[in-house]
Amino acid sequence: MYEPKPKLRKEYQQQENQQVEHSATLAQTFRDLKSLTVDLAYFHPGRFARHSQIKYTVNLANAKSRFRFSCPNEQCVGGDFDLSAALAKAVAAHQTTLTGEVTCQGWRCQTAVGQMRCHHILRYKLSAEYAQDKPSAEHGQTAGSQGNGDCEHHERHRLELVNV
Ligand SMILES: [Zn+2]
Repeated sequence: MYEPKPKLRKEYQQQENQQVEHSATLAQTFRDLKSLTVDLAYFHPGRFARHSQIKYTVNLANAKSRFRFSCPNEQCVGGDFDLSAALAKAVAAHQTTLTGEVTCQGWRCQTAVGQMRCHHILRYKLSAEYAQDKPSAEHGQTAGSQGNGDCEHHERHRLELVNV
């Protein structure tokens, strides 16, 4: 009988780091993305108090398109917050802001593997700017109706749990 041992936190991290290492940079992946600012707030499971908050401007030339953030729970096994898909979608739609919430699906600690999820929460706000100039002229289009508010319906499904 062979049962694979649950992976240790370190192994998960190594695996994760390799995947991040091998992904392209944001600048390579999203050519028309000019700047990206992230505003992150971490919360303990089941508590309202904010654990920590960080805001910074992403260096697009260095940051990887596998866009993820570590879990604030130091005991967490296999968990993190991966915003790659959300970011890719937002950039594809040229959304200037994107807010949302993700829950860590790792395990709370080494002895809780297979039993208790970590469930730390990350609330994020991404602010993006895009290149305006297009290589070939597109005439007949005015930017008259491109207010931020027009993105509402795109963001709807991601916004449900936010803005408390
Ligand atoms: Zn976690």
